[in-house]
Amino acid sequence: MQSRYSLKLGKPFGIRVSVHWTFSLLIAWIVIISIGRGLEPVQILMHVLFIFALFFCVVLHELGHSLAAIKLGGNVESITLLPIGGMANLSKMPEKPRDEFIVSAAGPLVNIAIALVLWIYLFYIRQLDVATMEFETITRGNFLLLLMAANLFIVVFNLIPAFPMDGGRLFRSALSIRMSRLKATQIAKDIGQVFAIIFIIAGLFFNPFLVIIGFFILLGAKGEYEMIKYQDVLRNYTVKDIISTEYSELDIDDTLEKAADKLVKISDNGFVIRSGGKYAGILTKNDLINGLNSHGKQARVKDILNDKVESVECNKPLFEVYTEMQRNRQYILPVIEKEEFLGVLDLENLHEFFLIRKATQTTA
Ligand SMILES: [Zn+2]
Repeated sequence: MQSRYSLKLGKPFGIRVSVHWTFSLLIAWIVIISIGRGLEPVQILMHVLFIFALFFCVVLHELGHSLAAIKLGGNVESITLLPIGGMANLSKMPEKPRDEFIVSAAGPLVNIAIALVLWIYLFYIRQLDVATMEFETITRGNFLLLLMAANLFIVVFNLIPAFPMDGGRLFRSALSIRMSRLKATQIAKDIGQVFAIIFIIAGLFFNPFLVIIGFFILLGAKGEYEMIKYQDVLRNYTVKDIISTEYSELDIDDTLEKAADKLVKISDNGFVIRSGGKYAGILTKNDLINGLNSHGKQARVKDILNDKVESVECNKPLFEVYTEMQRNRQYILPVIEKEEFLGVLDLENLHEFFLIRKATQTTA
């Protein structure tokens, strides 16, 4: 989720927590439904407060996953709240079946803990009598009891084995003990997609949010499976296996007009820029298009050259580079070792390398 569509709420444990703009649609939906039911403003306010309290529990759920992942060597960038729940953005995920099991279980365990605390408070300290309670609308009297029930619902719902939901991840990690991670992911993905279709069909009749969740599962399952396939194929390779020494070049004093003429004739994602024959940087296709827009075609390459482009080293594992390039939307990177320019790594070549290796792997 891109940050420009979300509002930052805070940074507990160094993890950026933000709420996506579509969350406001959920609030609007709640308000509209409440008005439709003829509720008083105070009652509507209680419903909205309940959603906030519920999503606070969702944040704690995601923090549960995140802190477990960090403890086991993973890396968590952010947590984003969507109308359908929370999403922790892990840039590095523990892969051992046992670790994955712990990380997946940690979220639902948080909700079990919250429900337990509320249960003790309501039934032992406040000695609530459920038989006399009203559940027509959310009130101060039933607020915490409903919050407890909602936390239990989150646990049950998340444990449905619909990969990539928590239950599906638990299922995959259990399968991974007996088979390869790729095979386990494939089975979990297939089952996840069956659930997704059930959710979508059921959602059409009962709840539009279930339809959205269904689509999220469909896309998420497919995306993660693709990622694992890449990981499986690229596992034994490093940058030096696909470093390209055939690339398009430009001089730092060339005009953008010349660069644009060349651009339409090449298939690379950018140019290697030379200054006095020596490597001076990489000009990506996007940088060039943006440069043409802002500086015009008579400007020189040096006027728009971004000198902050990252570089990679030869022995970096290919899958690691691949995930980073995907995440940062980088399509071409210079390969630099001990300050010497060795060639480029083009995402296009990486895809082709993957397809070729995969084809030869399955026929072997
Ligand atoms: Zn979860």
